[in-house]
Amino acid sequence: MATYIVLLGPPGVGKGTQSGMLARKIGLVHISSGDLFRENIKNQTELGKLAKSFIDKGELVPDDVTIAMIRERISKPDCKNGAILDGFPRTPVQADALKKTLAEFSGQVKAVYITAEEAVLIERTSGRWLCRKQGHVYHEKFNLPKQAGVCDVDGSELYQRDDDKKETVANRIRVYFEQTLPLVEHYRQIGGLIEINGAQDVEQVTKDLLSALKR
Ligand code: ADP
Ligand code: ADP
Repeated sequence: MATYIVLLGPPGVGKGTQSGMLARKIGLVHISSGDLFRENIKNQTELGKLAKSFIDKGELVPDDVTIAMIRERISKPDCKNGAILDGFPRTPVQADALKKTLAEFSGQVKAVYITAEEAVLIERTSGRWLCRKQGHVYHEKFNLPKQAGVCDVDGSELYQRDDDKKETVANRIRVYFEQTLPLVEHYRQIGGLIEINGAQDVEQVTKDLLSALKR
């Protein structure tokens, strides 16, 4: 049965970083809802314009458009053996939609919850840099590129996300507690939720994740 790994956790905890590591180690596609929205913003699509008005405030993009975007992405052939879903679902309505979509492809969900305290999230988001071309992620203290301001992988310029400003991050964390945390409870209750301490270094978090996924 195809497995869809769902990565849940607050902003900046390392979901994107760990999804990239997992994708390489286990050969599943990495799908990030945030990256898909940023791609749409860059290409100035209608979806991008709509998403930007929510993302800039640190609010969630409405469920209907988010669900449609992810449904379209996971219906592509490269996801038929499973995928790593980074940042989706983020609300109970999205989780329900995912369950229905996966039932159509006889897929199962493995939910992973990565946690860290707020000070860690603030330090990580405030030092985060992304590459313009493909969204490869760096940190000015913890994961430096070889050459300042340039992506190691594709040579494109690095930039800081507007929504990584302290005030917006504070709102994103609030939104996370209100709208996404209930989902963690939901996955815990249905059983099999994997919980990982995200406050460790990148390699240790990956090791813990891989060993928990094997169990
Ligand atoms: P982070 O990884 O730091 O939590 P993301 O890149 O996943 O941030 O998301 C950036 C923004 O994109 C979110 O603050 C939200 O506005 C929007 N977004 C991403 N995923 C979703 C989702 N599943 N539902 C609604 N909005 C989303
Ligand atoms: P998320 O997708 O959950 O918002 P990211 O994977 O983008 O988080 O990580 C946020 C920032 O923290 C990035 O700059 C990344 O390089 C850095 N980072 C990720 N994991 C760790 C870690 N375990 N230790 C230190 N820094 C990390």
